[in-house]
Amino acid sequence: MVHVGIGYDVHQLVVGRKLVLGGVEIPHPKGLDGHSDADALMHAICDAVLGALGEEDIGHFFPNTDPRWKGVPSKIFLEEAAKQVDRRNAKIVNIDATLIAQAPKIYPYIAGMKKCIAAALGISGQQVGIKATTNELMGFIGREEGIAAMAVASVDLP
Ligand code: MG
Repeated sequence: MVHVGIGYDVHQLVVGRKLVLGGVEIPHPKGLDGHSDADALMHAICDAVLGALGEEDIGHFFPNTDPRWKGVPSKIFLEEAAKQVDRRNAKIVNIDATLIAQAPKIYPYIAGMKKCIAAALGISGQQVGIKATTNELMGFIGREEGIAAMAVASVDLP
């Protein structure tokens, strides 16, 4: 039976951090703040996959109080989510995600993000959808104080 999971994440944009989204480093005057590399897109996808399995969330598997996860690339979180899928002999059907960022322009990086996400999850790039939108200058995202990501995952469970 196909199960669906949802994920959401947001991180603050600050000066002095690299901006990493979907495993791709994007040149920008500010980056996302967080314990790991703060890749909000990968975190949202990770929660979507874990959610489809009925598992606990990313914070349970990788607490932000644990020094092991400090500054790590978020692909390791996706690799763990994929391991959880394997453990149940399940298969990811597809992932779909939306990034909400006022700046920078995301479109040029989407192909690279799909590659990184697909590689971390052990699926094909054609199973990964990524879209991006601005927040029409409204709210904290519109003021470029943060970037958010939403994701869904469908997983075929035996
Ligand atoms: Mg996060």
